[in-house]
Amino acid sequence: MTDSTPPAYARLTIDTDALVANWRLCGQRRPDAECAAVVKADGYGLGLDNVVPALSQAGCRTFFVAHIGEGEYVRRLDRTATIYVLCGLVPGRGDDYARHDLRPVLGSLEEIREWSSFCATTGWQGGGALHVDTGMSRLGLRVEQAQALVAEGDLFKPSLLMSHLACADVHHHPLNARQFQAFASANKLYPEVPASLCNSYGVFHPAEIGYDLLRPGVALYGSNPVLDKPNPMKPVVTLEAQVLQVRTVMPGEHVGYGATWTTRTPARIAVVGIGYADGYLRSGSSSEDFDSAIAYVGGHHCLIAGRISMDMTAIDVTALPEGGVKRGDWVELIGAHLPVDEVARRAGTISYEILTSLGARYERRIVGEGMS
Ligand SMILES: *Cc1c(COP(=O)(O)O)cnc(C)c1O
Repeated sequence: MTDSTPPAYARLTIDTDALVANWRLCGQRRPDAECAAVVKADGYGLGLDNVVPALSQAGCRTFFVAHIGEGEYVRRLDRTATIYVLCGLVPGRGDDYARHDLRPVLGSLEEIREWSSFCATTGWQGGGALHVDTGMSRLGLRVEQAQALVAEGDLFKPSLLMSHLACADVHHHPLNARQFQAFASANKLYPEVPASLCNSYGVFHPAEIGYDLLRPGVALYGSNPVLDKPNPMKPVVTLEAQVLQVRTVMPGEHVGYGATWTTRTPARIAVVGIGYADGYLRSGSSSEDFDSAIAYVGGHHCLIAGRISMDMTAIDVTALPEGGVKRGDWVELIGAHLPVDEVARRAGTISYEILTSLGARYERRIVGEGMS
């Protein structure tokens, strides 16, 4: 058997069954609402080709992307789904939305005017969302602006009314109540229009804020949407790297750039073929000041030794029995034994950044029903 694909030193496995189970679990949290899927940034780094067909097949009918190009890509994968573009209307490019039947999420009066005039001129009736800002001050009309718009008798009829929560991960954050209230008043302005407020944390928030359409993102990909409780989501991503070499380091010797790691007793190091060029963040390097990254090696959780370099990372495997890990073995860096949230915490960041940084050099394997 010949295989022309050169071998990769790191591999990423994406479990579409887990993805679909997570999407269903989100839907079950708010059974009266439709559950959409946020697939921006190439499906949070997992690949649109991998996530969209599985979710479509499971019955997901609405997708949210960030960029219009992502919207075009999702349209090729699903001819009939409703697709919203979160970054809104690119100036002068109404045609592109109409051509691929994409709906801009309109977040300013300027955008609304441009979209309305585009629709009036061309007769396009594909729909667009109205984003109201309820306290995040990123995109969106202020609620008063929306009130004024309605009072003026403006003809723009959004296909969706939405807002975005800034702090739903912290259940008792005072901004939540203000956002819930502001959105409720915006919702009264458009009683006929379906409404959407919940991101992943909103879906799992105890408040009655289901509305008509859920917009979970990161929870679909396995990140915990209830921070102080065990993670109800299934792990979707497994990242593994191959051992290039196992070596002994003697007392007083150092490991890696900057010689930041030194051993006092003989130690064993496994060097694996993954580094920051693969999105294995350098901030996970070992440090005396905070918990460094860990790898799951031969049944043990082992700390990273020294600095993560571009293509390689050293792991302290001294705790393993002699021969417990050898050249060619695979070690887990994200997966069932190493939740993505834990990996993120140890790199000083959030799961979103870990996922969307997942590198291009990995061998990518898709597992799950119907993904042959
Ligand atoms: C990214 C995003 C979401 C999804 O957020 P998660 O925290 O990943 O669930 C929902 N709505 C908007 C407007 C977003 O930008």
